[in-house]
Amino acid sequence: MGRASESVSEDLNRFMELALDQAKCAFDNLEVPIGCVIVEDGEVIATGFNRTTETRNATRHAEMEAIDTLLEKWQKCGLNKSQVAQKFSNCILYVTCEPCIMCAMALSILGIREVYFGCANDKFGGCGSILSLHKGETDNKCSDGASQSKGFKCMGGYMADEAISLLKSFYEQGNPNDLFRLIGIILDLYL
Ligand SMILES: [Zn+2]
Repeated sequence: MGRASESVSEDLNRFMELALDQAKCAFDNLEVPIGCVIVEDGEVIATGFNRTTETRNATRHAEMEAIDTLLEKWQKCGLNKSQVAQKFSNCILYVTCEPCIMCAMALSILGIREVYFGCANDKFGGCGSILSLHKGETDNKCSDGASQSKGFKCMGGYMADEAISLLKSFYEQGNPNDLFRLIGIILDLYL
């Protein structure tokens, strides 16, 4: 193995570890344990973990959390749309589970450069399992190009065992939030 590929796999391990740390944060917060980091020039510039329960919003996936952190930051810096696109084209996402269809579409429109993921998402995966949105649009239906999917380089299977075992222990322990939510609904009804 040459030096270049060695440092690539070192980066992969390092950043996947950090994504797993984020997944563990989700686990500790009683959320579905999926986490991610976004890296630019070898540095983590955003992190995210699933917050669907806390926010009561089914779209608050780890990737969306990290993306929104960046969009907010770059908007505050006064970057325009094309500067934001330029920034994203330099970013790499490391995520513990294959991005779902919604996240894969968002990543493709934003034009992220590369995505590395852990385990496959057999139900909702947008990077090969159900749809292959990372391949982008081959035809040019959008005349303005604004919402055109650019596609991105994508590879999975990194530290998949760790990612799966976190998900397994989450689902095996039962999801206490279902119970909390039920109690909340009952209280809302009767109080
Ligand atoms: Zn998603």
